[in-house]
Amino acid sequence: MATEKTRAIVLKLVEFSESSCVVTLFTEDFGKVGALAKGARRPKSAFEGAIDLLALIRIVFLRKSSDALDLLTEAKLERRFRSAQRDLARLYAGYYVAELLAELTEPADPHPTLFQAADATLLALDEGAATAETVLRFELTALREVGHVPSLAACVVCGRPMAPSKRVAFGMIAGGVLCDECRPGRKGVVSISSGVLDVLREASDESGGRGSRRALDEPTGDGSAGASPAQTPLIIDPTIRGELRAVMNNYFAHLIGHRLRLSEYLGTLPNP
Ligand SMILES: [Zn+2]
Repeated sequence: MATEKTRAIVLKLVEFSESSCVVTLFTEDFGKVGALAKGARRPKSAFEGAIDLLALIRIVFLRKSSDALDLLTEAKLERRFRSAQRDLARLYAGYYVAELLAELTEPADPHPTLFQAADATLLALDEGAATAETVLRFELTALREVGHVPSLAACVVCGRPMAPSKRVAFGMIAGGVLCDECRPGRKGVVSISSGVLDVLREASDESGGRGSRRALDEPTGDGSAGASPAQTPLIIDPTIRGELRAVMNNYFAHLIGHRLRLSEYLGTLPNP
């Protein structure tokens, strides 16, 4: 068993016994980790109340063999997700970030860039950044990190650049926009407005997809961008918010195999 130290975001907490719980963590250096926190539910534990949903914590844990739970031995709080106490829309957005991390990543598959983006996203939500824009940026960064960012500038099948148009065919299963020649006969195709496509391209560019406006999306960025949401003024027009949410929810549902639990709450609340 190796003792490891890293930073982590608390994704899930499940009671295990009267005094212990099982935590799902997204760690900076080891990806998703499931760990037993013995005594975490006792008032005076080694975790000092650090194990709180969406909290950023510094941990020490023992790595077990592949099919056993790791053992959390220490957790120190770096930052609590404070939005939980003040604003339901931000709280749901935070839970959604946790759900995306849990669903999109595999155990022991490190994604430090995604960790940093998640950390920055939770902080931005806490500090009052626009919720819908912050969430969209994170979604595109997450998709880029796991290799599923949709093709937005060129037809996902033949690679031909898309001509400007009021509405564009988007293949949920194909994973991006489709030209008139490649569209027929495909399943899971929806029509999206140019407004939604423009916002997706902008968010994708910001998440590290250089040049997705004019050229083919690269499979992965260089890993240096995407960790700083809330720096550029991405603005989602209120008139396309509903359509955009529907497209993203649908895309993730196809990718993951089921609808994300929190997705139905996004956009249903006043957007600060
Ligand atoms: Zn095509």
